Amino acid sequence: MSVRVVARIRPLLEKELDKDVIVRADSTEDGKPLTMVKIPSPKNESEEFSFAFNSVYDQSTTQEELFSAEVAPHMKALFQGLDVTIFAYGVTGTGKTHTMRGGLKLADRGVIPRLLSNVFRRAKKVAKDSNGATTVDVALAYYEIYNDKVFDLLEPLEKRTPSGLPLREKDGKTIVVGLSERSCEDLKDFERLYIEANNNRVTAATKLNAHSSRSHAILRVKVTQTTGDMVRESTASAIDLAGSEDNRRTDNDKTRLVESAAINKSLFVLSQCIDAISRGDKRIPYRESKMTRILSLGQNNGITIMILNLAPMRSYHLDTLSSLNVSSRAKRI
Ligand code: ADP
Ligand code: MG
Repeated sequence: MSVRVVARIRPLLEKELDKDVIVRADSTEDGKPLTMVKIPSPKNESEEFSFAFNSVYDQSTTQEELFSAEVAPHMKALFQGLDVTIFAYGVTGTGKTHTMRGGLKLADRGVIPRLLSNVFRRAKKVAKDSNGATTVDVALAYYEIYNDKVFDLLEPLEKRTPSGLPLREKDGKTIVVGLSERSCEDLKDFERLYIEANNNRVTAATKLNAHSSRSHAILRVKVTQTTGDMVRESTASAIDLAGSEDNRRTDNDKTRLVESAAINKSLFVLSQCIDAISRGDKRIPYRESKMTRILSLGQNNGITIMILNLAPMRSYHLDTLSSLNVSSRAKRI
C-alpha cells in the first residue's frame, strides 16, 4: 500500500483579483521541486507556517500537468491488477470538482475524464496486443455518501430509499449491496452516463435543500481483463469529497448539524487512515466511517493519492490552516 499526499493551490478567479493572497508554494532549496506550502500564522503575520507534501502544484499547474505527474504513472499498475484511489480533499470553493471533473473544454478536463480516456486506450491496446485473446471490460459505478448513507447515482431518483443502500462484507471487502454497474465502451459512452449521473446528484441535493458539496461522490472504474479462464480485476476510484470547511461556523439548523457531524467524522477518519498508511501501521481505522469502509482504505495493496485543494486567499485562512494540518500531519517536517 502506498500513499501520496500532494497539494494543489488554485489561482485567483477573475472576480477575486483584488484579493489578498496568503498561501504560496515553495521548495526546500532553490531549484528543487515544490514540496512546501507556506502560510502566515493567523495570530502573528510575521510568523510563517510550513507544511511539507510529496509534491505541491501552484496556480500555474494545468490539468494536463497534474494528471501526467500524479495519475498517469499509475495506470500501468492498474492494468497489472492494483487498485488506484484518488481523493480530492479541501474546503468548498478550493477546486476539488475542477481537479476531479474539470471543465468541458478539452484542456480543462479533470482527472476523471483523463483517467477514463487512458483506460480505454490501454484496453484497446491489451486486446490488440493479445490478438483478441484477452478481452477488457470497463464498468462504472457512481454513488454518493450523504449523511453516512449510500445512494446510487446511476439509478433514477425515484428508486432511492431514505435509508440508502446497505453495506456487507465479502471476502474481506466491503460491498455496497444493490449498487448498479454499467459497462462502458468508450469515452462518449462514459460522458453520457457521467453527465446524467451528475445531474441526478444536483437534483437530489436540491430536493433536500442541500448542496452537492455536502456529500462525497465516488466514481469506481472496474477493469476486468479476461484471458480464457484467467480473470484479472482491478479498480480505479476517483473521489470528490464533501467540503472540509469548519461546519461549526456556518449555520446551525438541524439538517446542517446532522450533515456536518457526518462530514466531519468521515473526513477525520479518512485523515487517520491516510496517516496510519503513511506510517506503515498494521491497524488502519478504516471501519470507523462508511466512506473509508467502502474503499477498504489500507486493506488492499494499491496506490492512494490524496490531493489537498487550496484557495490562496485570506478569506480562507483558518479553514486552509485546518485542512493543511489534517492532510500534512504525516508529512510534517
Ligand atoms: P470545490 O469543488 O472544491 O468546491 P470548484 O472546483 O467548484 O471547488 O472550484 C471553485 C471555482 O474555482 C470554480 O469556478 C472553478 O472553476 C475554479 N477553479 C478551481 N480550480 C481552478 C484552477 N486550477 N484553475 C482555474 N480555475 C479553477
Ligand atoms: Mg465541488
